[in-house]
Amino acid sequence: MANRYSLWSLLKNGLKHNESWQPAWRSPQAKPRYDVIIVGGGGHGLATAYYLAKNHGVKNVAVLEKGYLGGGNTARNTTIVRSNYLWDEAAQLYEHAMKLWEGLSLDLNFNVMFSQRGVMNLGHTLQDMRDIERRVNANNLNGIDGVVLSPKEIQDIVPLMDISAKTRYPVMGASYQPRGGVARHDAVAWGFARGASELGVDIIEQCEVIDMIIEDGRIKGVKTTKGDIFADRVGCVAAGNSTPLAKMAGVRLPLESHPLQAFVSESMKPCLDTVVMSNAVHGYVSQSDKGELVIGAGIDSYLGYGQRGSPHVIEHTAAAIIELFPSFSRVRMNRQWGGIVDVAPDACPIISKTKVKGLYFNCGWGTGGFKATPGSGYVFAHTIANDEAHPLNKAFALDRFNTGHLIDEHGAAGVAH
Ligand SMILES: Cc1cc2nc3c(=O)[nH]c(=O)nc-3n(C[C@H](O)[C@H](O)[C@H](O)COP(=O)(O)OP(=O)(O)OC[C@H]3O[C@@H](n4cnc5c(N)ncnc54)[C@H](O)[C@@H]3O)c2cc1C
Repeated sequence: MANRYSLWSLLKNGLKHNESWQPAWRSPQAKPRYDVIIVGGGGHGLATAYYLAKNHGVKNVAVLEKGYLGGGNTARNTTIVRSNYLWDEAAQLYEHAMKLWEGLSLDLNFNVMFSQRGVMNLGHTLQDMRDIERRVNANNLNGIDGVVLSPKEIQDIVPLMDISAKTRYPVMGASYQPRGGVARHDAVAWGFARGASELGVDIIEQCEVIDMIIEDGRIKGVKTTKGDIFADRVGCVAAGNSTPLAKMAGVRLPLESHPLQAFVSESMKPCLDTVVMSNAVHGYVSQSDKGELVIGAGIDSYLGYGQRGSPHVIEHTAAAIIELFPSFSRVRMNRQWGGIVDVAPDACPIISKTKVKGLYFNCGWGTGGFKATPGSGYVFAHTIANDEAHPLNKAFALDRFNTGHLIDEHGAAGVAH
C-alpha cells in the first residue's frame, strides 16, 4: 500500500510538517465503461467495491455517489455493532460481519475504532425475559456469545442505571453480548474507500444516477448527472433511496422509507462503558469516545425522504433515557439529525439478483445495517462477481416475498439497532 499508515509514517510525515500525506483516495474522472458500477458510496457500497477488487480480482469498478462519501446513513447512525439475531440465517449473516469487524482495522490499515464494550438489551416484563432467554439460547446454539444478566449483574456493569422496583418499567434482567460494541462510522466509509481506491476502484462523488440503461432485459449502464456510464453489472446499495432507484429499472421493492433520528449530548467524563437498549421504554444510549451520550430510538412512523424527523420523537426518547438514567436529566443535548432507513416487512435485508439481468440490489437493512457493513459488502461482492448468491445471503433474495420464506427479526430489530 503506497500510503501505508504506521508509527514510522507518522514520524516521517511529522518531520515534514505533515505536508507530504497522500489523499486517502483518488478522485478520478469517470471512465465511459466499467466492469461493475456500484451505486451508493455509503459503507456497504464501498465495502462491496473493496471486496470485489480484493477477493474476486474485479478492479475495473466505479462507485457512484450522489453526494459525499458517508453522507447517507453510514455516518448518521449510532454505530451499534452486534450479531445476536434470533433466526439461523440472520444470526449467521451478522456473525460473519462481526468476525470481519474483529480484523477490519488491520485489514484496511485504517483505525475504524471498533470497541467491543458489550451490548445490553433490557427486559421489563416476564414476556420480555422469556424472549431474551429464547434469543440468548438460540445465539449460543449458533456459536454466538451471549448471556442473560440479573438486575444485580446489570447494576455491576452500569452503576448509573435505576434498577429499583419503583420505576414505571422495573428492570427484570437483560441479554448481554460482550463482543458487541461500537465503531467510528465515518472511519468505516473512509477506510473502505481508501482500501478500494488503492486496489484500482474509481470513486466518483457528486455523481447522481438518474436513470438506468436497459436493453432486452439486461442492464447496460446508468445515466448520471455526469453523463452516461456503461457496465454489464450494476449493484445498487442506496439504503433509503433504493425504491426510486429500483423504479428506474421497473423493479418493485417491498420497502418503506422512514426517517430515523438520533442525538448526542455535550461531552462528559466516562460514565457508561457499554451500550444499553430497551424496547419497552423505547430508547438506547451509549457514550462515544469523545464523551457524548449517543441516544436513539425507533423510526418516525410516516414515510419520507427528508433527512430529518419530528420533535415529539426526540422528546419521547429523552424521557425514556431519563427513566433509565435519572441523573442524565441534567445533561444538555448538543445536536440532533435524521437519516432515511429502508424497512422491509420482515426487518431483514434484501441482497439479491433482480428480474433485470446484471442488476443487483442490496437494501432493506432498515435501522440496523451499520453492524453488517463489512459482511454485507463481502457477500454482495460475491453475488455480483459470480452472478450467484453467497451461501450466507441465499435466504435474503427478493423471491422470499413470493415464496413466504420470511425471516422475521422484528424482535431483534426495531428500537434495538
Ligand atoms: C439515526 C440512525 C441510527 C442508526 N443506528 C444504527 C446502529 O446503531 N447500528 C446499526 O447497525 N445500524 C444503524 N442504523 C442503520 C444504518 O445506518 C444503515 O443500515 C447503514 O448505514 C446503511 O448503509 P448503506 O451504505 O447501505 O447506506 P448509506 O450510507 O445511506 O449509503 C447509500 C448512499 O447512496 C447514495 N445514493 C442514493 N441514491 C443515489 C443515486 N441515485 N445515485 C448515487 N448515489 C445515491 C446516498 O447519497 C448514500 O450516500 C442507523 C440509521 C440511522 C439513520
